[in-house]
Amino acid sequence: MPEKTERPQKARRSKKKVCMFCVDKIDTIDYKDTAKLRRYISERGKIVPRRISGNCAKHQRQLTIAIKRARQIALLPFVAE
Ligand SMILES: [Zn+2]
Repeated sequence: MPEKTERPQKARRSKKKVCMFCVDKIDTIDYKDTAKLRRYISERGKIVPRRISGNCAKHQRQLTIAIKRARQIALLPFVAE
């Protein structure tokens, strides 16, 4: 039986980077929608960078504003405990 050398796949099947807000056709990100915002906050309470979130520039900017606003009214933590 020939030995099958499994070479590490360089191109790992990364989830396609699409802006979820574009997909959902969301024009304005609701800062009260914490369920959605939380998905873009790391466990440390930081905003997930665009290259990871896959958001487009337009929505990432809105997202940042929305998260900051949500923090201000204490919907989201500044730093996760
Ligand atoms: Zn977008």
